[in-house]
Amino acid sequence: ALRPGPLRTGAIPVSGASPDDRDLLHFDLIVLGGGSGGLAAAFRAVEHGQRVALVEPGALGGTCVNVGCVPKKAMWLAADLGTRLEQAARLGFDLPMDRRVGFDWARFITDRQRYIHGIHHSYGERLDRAGIMVLPARGRLAGPGRVDTDAGARLAAPHIVLATGSSPVRPDVAGASLGAVSDDFFGWNAAPPRLAIIGGGYIAIELAGVLQALGSQVEMFVRDQRLLRQADAELVEQLQENYRQQGIGLVFGYDLQALRRDDDGQLQLEALDGSIRGGFDQVLFATGRRPNTGDIGLDTVGITPDGAGNIPVDRWQATQAEGVYAVGDISGCGLALTPVAIAAARRLCDRLFGGRPDAKLDVDNVPSVVFSHPPLAMVGLTEAEARERYGDDVHVYRSNFRPMREALAESTQRSVFKLVCVGAERRVVGLHLLGDSADEILQGFAVALKRGITLDDLHDTIAIHPTSAEEIVLMR
Ligand code: FAD
Ligand code: NDP
Repeated sequence: ALRPGPLRTGAIPVSGASPDDRDLLHFDLIVLGGGSGGLAAAFRAVEHGQRVALVEPGALGGTCVNVGCVPKKAMWLAADLGTRLEQAARLGFDLPMDRRVGFDWARFITDRQRYIHGIHHSYGERLDRAGIMVLPARGRLAGPGRVDTDAGARLAAPHIVLATGSSPVRPDVAGASLGAVSDDFFGWNAAPPRLAIIGGGYIAIELAGVLQALGSQVEMFVRDQRLLRQADAELVEQLQENYRQQGIGLVFGYDLQALRRDDDGQLQLEALDGSIRGGFDQVLFATGRRPNTGDIGLDTVGITPDGAGNIPVDRWQATQAEGVYAVGDISGCGLALTPVAIAAARRLCDRLFGGRPDAKLDVDNVPSVVFSHPPLAMVGLTEAEARERYGDDVHVYRSNFRPMREALAESTQRSVFKLVCVGAERRVVGLHLLGDSADEILQGFAVALKRGITLDDLHDTIAIHPTSAEEIVLMR
């Protein structure tokens, strides 16, 4: 229902030369998708003096702003506040200790959506100011240098950036349509009393933490033997322990076969071994995402997506077709993150239009945070990855502690910070933080790690006391 507004006509398109091309609108760059990557490409190209058309059928900001990072972080903040209120009650504040502090979910959603509308508005103004022509329509490649929209516009440009993002997928099991996905979660007006989450990745972990804190009884069903396969095993073990203490059920090695509704209207899961788990008000699939590449005319320019639907790109974001580039979730770089999509888009435009022939995305040491409770932040190699690459030359330092607020409130939730170093000089190749404010602590250390710091550099830095972050410079 959120639309980006009418066609903006700041940029003046040049008419085609031949009579056949008279209705063609000519630009220097056409961008398909007004999400993280697409908007970044459009704005950066304009900074370099290009005339840009942006084609976006939905709300400006794409997944991140509308059904991803932003509303997710808002829900995470609400959940975090709720947990802190409970701690405050334990610590002498005059709040009810015998029951959960009430939470008006619908009221919070109003505030969340007002914040998101503000982002739409600000993007709209910036696009107008930049003279970018926004076409509120679905775009499709229509041969080399050409894009058609489903609203009837015909566009031409020597450069086309594809940034159409990805969508959640349900597994191929009977009754899958009875389950919700993350897009649906953002439309919920209350926490379902009993919720099953299928999957053990970023979204499953984040929404499990949020919903448990906001009043659901959450059970996670994971086909692997652990959560978050790509994260350091030791931190994941502590996260699992923290989640169990928060009351989240964790079932590992679970193979879902079917989902059905029982006579009472409750949802039931049937596993491959025939066992049944029932009584759920909602089942949420957090089982990965698929690139939106099925209907964007890739065949008209000779691009063949890979088996997962990703558009193959080289390290310059170039596709198999001359003048066509792909950034963000559709480019299959394995890092489906907003800042990665933005960085890829900006560097691409700096290279194409900004006189920086070497500009390209650097996929090494990209930091990321899983907004669990507490958050899990990581950059660089896990211990297992480092041992695979460097063998016995790996040195690990860790701190497993109870932060002051948890201790004061007599909570048993623990933090784990871990440094992975290599060689005699103990170069830091991985930093992994599970704990309060890990999301805020990591950014600066990610800069340091990219600059090649060693353990001595950390030890040479005076600690800030008393904080959790000081553990990083005190580990030995
Ligand atoms: P998108 O932002 O999805 O934008 C794609 C746009 O293309 C959409 O607006 C879509 O409408 C449009 N489009 C589709 N088809 C067409 C077409 N044919 N023509 C024109 N336009 C089209 N990342 C983080 O870094 N931090 C987080 O905390 C985080 N949390 C997340 C939480 C959730 C629940 C989800 C789902 C994702 C999260 N992500 C997070 C990932 C992040 O949102 C994505 O990696 C990022 O949005 C990808 O940007 P993109 O430009 O590739 O695609
Ligand atoms: P992930 O790839 O992170 O996790 C998918 C999970 O679903 C895995 O546990 C996977 O298991 C499991 N799975 C996949 N298929 C099935 C199936 N058929 N049956 C049962 N389980 C299945 O995807 P998400 O959807 O959680 O998130 C997508 C991406 O979005 C993330 O990878 C991340 O890049 C981005 N994101 C980033 C966030 C952030 O930065 N904070 C937050 C949210 C999303 P297995 O491991 O066995 O394959």
